[in-house]
Amino acid sequence: MKSPIERHCPDSKRLEMLLLDVDPRDAERKRLQLHLQQCSKCRQESKEIDAFYNILVKEMQRPVSNRLLDFSQKLCNNKTLVALFDCEPLDEKPNGHGKGYHVKLLHLSSQDPAKSMTQFDLKALPKDHIVLRLVIDPDCQTTVCYLWNAVLEEYENWTLDLPFGDDPFLVAANGVVKIPYLFHDRLDDKNVYFNFRPTSLQETTRFEKILESMV
Ligand SMILES: [Zn+2]
Repeated sequence: MKSPIERHCPDSKRLEMLLLDVDPRDAERKRLQLHLQQCSKCRQESKEIDAFYNILVKEMQRPVSNRLLDFSQKLCNNKTLVALFDCEPLDEKPNGHGKGYHVKLLHLSSQDPAKSMTQFDLKALPKDHIVLRLVIDPDCQTTVCYLWNAVLEEYENWTLDLPFGDDPFLVAANGVVKIPYLFHDRLDDKNVYFNFRPTSLQETTRFEKILESMV
């Protein structure tokens, strides 16, 4: 038997959409807030939905592990290259491009096929270094760059400036950067710049955050 309050319960889908901020209509949001104050059943359900999305958002924004890159390379054809670079901060003040780093190749899968990414102890590098992990696919002509740093877990609003005159590239919160198709030799022994670009105050909904992290 439903209580008088439970007769006004939104259905699960509706509740989920409201919690994801997909529907911006204020009246409906206020109705839901009022309802949640009164209805323990929906409160419980919204708590569970909340917990699920919090974990999902966190997981998708986490930097990709070396293990996963190794795994994806094994899945791909053996023409796919993986390159590992150490970026050491330059001894100079940040300029208009951001903070400068000198790039050095640490590992290239085609030169040393027996070695995998997981064999590198990245944590042994100084904490202010940033690691670039490039996955280069000659068949699809794509290069994707994955950032790694011992301390940082989020790269929201970061940009990466590469040494060939393009506009800076936007870094996704999980440290993934889509860069033009290029080989490791275009970056080795060059300087790159990382910058922080604050975005407008407009808040993104949780749903948009999940979509964004799916790049
Ligand atoms: Zn309810």
